[in-house]
Amino acid sequence: MGDSKELTLDEIVALCKRRGFIFQSSEIYGGLGSTYDYGHYGVLLKNNVKAEWWRAVVQERDDMVALDAAILMHPRTWEASGHLEGFTDPLVQCLGDCKRRWREDHVREEQLGAEDAEGEIVCPNCSGELSDPMQFNLMFKTHMGPVAESGSEVYLRPETAQGIFVNFKNVLQFARKKPPFGIAQIGKSFRNEITPGNFIFRTREFEQMEIEFFVPPAEAPEWHQKWMEDRMSWYTELGIRPDNLRLREHGSDELSHYSSATSDIEYLFPMGWSELEGVANRGDYDLTKHAEFSGEKLEYFDQQSGDRYVPYVIEPSAGADRATLAFLVDAYDVEEVEGRERTVLRIHPRLAPVKVAVLPLVSKEGMPERAREIHQQLRQVVPAEFDEGGSIGKRYRRQDEIGTPYCLTIDGQTIEDGTVTLRDRDTLEQTRIPADDVVSEIERRLGEPWSPPARS
Ligand code: ATP
Repeated sequence: MGDSKELTLDEIVALCKRRGFIFQSSEIYGGLGSTYDYGHYGVLLKNNVKAEWWRAVVQERDDMVALDAAILMHPRTWEASGHLEGFTDPLVQCLGDCKRRWREDHVREEQLGAEDAEGEIVCPNCSGELSDPMQFNLMFKTHMGPVAESGSEVYLRPETAQGIFVNFKNVLQFARKKPPFGIAQIGKSFRNEITPGNFIFRTREFEQMEIEFFVPPAEAPEWHQKWMEDRMSWYTELGIRPDNLRLREHGSDELSHYSSATSDIEYLFPMGWSELEGVANRGDYDLTKHAEFSGEKLEYFDQQSGDRYVPYVIEPSAGADRATLAFLVDAYDVEEVEGRERTVLRIHPRLAPVKVAVLPLVSKEGMPERAREIHQQLRQVVPAEFDEGGSIGKRYRRQDEIGTPYCLTIDGQTIEDGTVTLRDRDTLEQTRIPADDVVSEIERRLGEPWSPPARS
């Protein structure tokens, strides 16, 4: 297949559908624009991505705690955060034939080379004239309670971050932490994107994995740097090829109103370099604003030194769906084995939806029972699948496409001498091992360091 630059997103979409990772939402009704449903392997994969995130940012650290805030928040939150007024994208509409709507900044970037470049732009679809831009707020509005009246308006959160800021005081009180410390949260966010697209890269409903890390103001630049490094390493340790990952610092014209420095971690998706995660230094903007709007003191008082200050915030903000897409793209490979094409997901074993598949070769007496026993032992320790349907070639192909690192075949010899064959997804090496050692051997192999093999 060559490197990911040649891979098209369509191939990933096709694999996801073929193997039940991700489907178009409400497909039987013709689908709903840019919303997707995760099927069995997709759920397992995204859960593993989220679990690895929790592991790295909470479990393995002393300075982080978890939070799960509600999606619906008090509407004042969005006044304080600036979203009600400023969370907008410039919308232009085609005045020509197709009447399609576009994000003006994206069209400028595409046609003139920069988001803020001066000059005429035209409809990317039909080259028609475009309307003047209008600012379009991306928040989904709904009503709380039975009557849709003004005053009952609430919003589906467009980011999880605000749930963290409004809980700063609670966490400070109950988690017995002091800056530098952070709060981590994973949850759904909603944005009425003007031009969603590129599969699960930009959707209107998505999951974020966000950290707000509170630090003494003087330490903010140092922590910003540290978090950029930590987050880059997280992706490469989970198998993303370093060549496909880069850090891009925002220019001063690109910075959000709250941010003094932001860098995007970008991934080389099939459609080009695009944001995977933002790491921002938000200063004391959010806590100050919420203190102002709520009347609560949102600061830290150090009893030892007598210092009182509003912490600065470093925010590594990632998308669980975008990360899942990047892991899929980076893992996807097609190679030729003995004259036949093999599609394989060379995904990090820790992310693989299924770790081992048990495949009985023939239904000779005693064999399926022995295979079931082995499967039963394995599934106590790792996600293991049992598959006895179809030719062995077909079963291998299926496991390769869902990225299962190991397959075990149980054959005639198993009954005779108690051995099974262990096949490695990446090397295709087959080793005979005693069936009694299977669990410990799989555990041993899964515990070994893994790095992505060269693409074929
Ligand atoms: P973009 O410029 O791509 O719209 P953003 O800068 O608005 O992204 P942030 O507000 O920084 O994004 O959100 C943090 C992370 O949340 C992003 O890096 C991305 O991984 C994820 N994310 C944001 N919007 C979407 C979306 N519409 N669909 C899927 N993931 C998203």
